[in-house]
Amino acid sequence: MSETKYHIPLSSPDITEREIEAVVEVMKSGTLSLGPKLPEFEKAIADYAGIKHAVAVNSGTSGLHLCVRALGLKPGDEVITTSFSFIASANCVIFEGAKPVFIDIDPVDMNFNIDQIEGAITEKTKAIVAVHAFGMPVDMVKVMEVARKHNLAVIEDACEAIGAMIKDGNEWKMAGTFGDCALYAFYPNKQITTGEGGIIITDDDEIARLCVSMRNQGRDAGMGWLAHARLGYNYRLSDMSCALGTVQVSRLGEILPKRAEVAARYTKLFKEELPEVVLPCPDPENLKRSWFVYVIQLPKQYTGDQRNALITHLRGLGIGCNQYFSPIHLQPFYQREYGWKRGDLPVTEYMGDHSMSIPFFNKLSLEDQKIVVSEIKKWLKENPA
Ligand SMILES: *Cc1c(COP(=O)(O)O)cnc(C)c1O
Repeated sequence: MSETKYHIPLSSPDITEREIEAVVEVMKSGTLSLGPKLPEFEKAIADYAGIKHAVAVNSGTSGLHLCVRALGLKPGDEVITTSFSFIASANCVIFEGAKPVFIDIDPVDMNFNIDQIEGAITEKTKAIVAVHAFGMPVDMVKVMEVARKHNLAVIEDACEAIGAMIKDGNEWKMAGTFGDCALYAFYPNKQITTGEGGIIITDDDEIARLCVSMRNQGRDAGMGWLAHARLGYNYRLSDMSCALGTVQVSRLGEILPKRAEVAARYTKLFKEELPEVVLPCPDPENLKRSWFVYVIQLPKQYTGDQRNALITHLRGLGIGCNQYFSPIHLQPFYQREYGWKRGDLPVTEYMGDHSMSIPFFNKLSLEDQKIVVSEIKKWLKENPA
């Protein structure tokens, strides 16, 4: 490891002795996959979200793929989504030969601009992938209105948003419970982790049944190990991961408020020390963010190259940070295959050039947060736009 001035990672999972014991117990049991920990984890998530089915899989990406297949999307279909996301939320559509169609984002909450959905609908449009970016939920009440009007299926990519809430009338509901199906993901940088992993949640019996089958090589309930009813995959999640996940879910009530506290400390520090930096938006009255990352925007006179220079500088000091997100439509193969180019989605591109994630996890200390803010402040002073 190279010697750096600081050691402040971008993210860090919160693992206690309870998680360690739960995983060790599975290893001692001898049943490492398709054992009792799988239904236990799925029930814990379904109960938490207040939904009928949860189907655990080995990544958020594989879960999104199964949702796309379960909904029957196929070549020629178009799916409306955001370019300001992790690549998997658009790739999952391409896996089945369908085409992602990007609309621009809202400059305040960074989620796709719901008012642009209708303008992007063609006779080929079959679905919407709504991404709750950075844990800030999309107003799904509005999205579902548009989707119902045009008979579109809806997948919620809630991979960054476990615990985020959306007000529906007078009732608060979990992000992920509005569409036909949704995904939570558990890579180690997420709010809670299973190492690698994801989970499909749905109230739809048929979607759940298909996903259970497809994650396990297309086997159907009651069929033998070498009998396959349909095309399937090995997207299974091990019992070690499920045991880890079950303990993590039980700790969400402790983990999410801690993350919100760390975010509030950053917000206070930036407001005092660096008011020119744009901070994550506060929650509107009908949405509650689940803090996933802390993303700041440099003042608008700065360029993308300067933002990249700041990232390089901070990393050199041992402060984890990243461009977040790098717009999907500008990824080389999207430009090549679909003809997207710079200029197509101005707000997305602006954020792609100005935004960056900084160290954020629930055990991040105030001292380290002060270091992060003061090093950014120092760099901005020394590098005027
Ligand atoms: C993390 C994440 C996923 C899933 O990622 P995996 O690494 O496959 O678990 C999907 N969409 C978004 C927006 C994500 O942040």
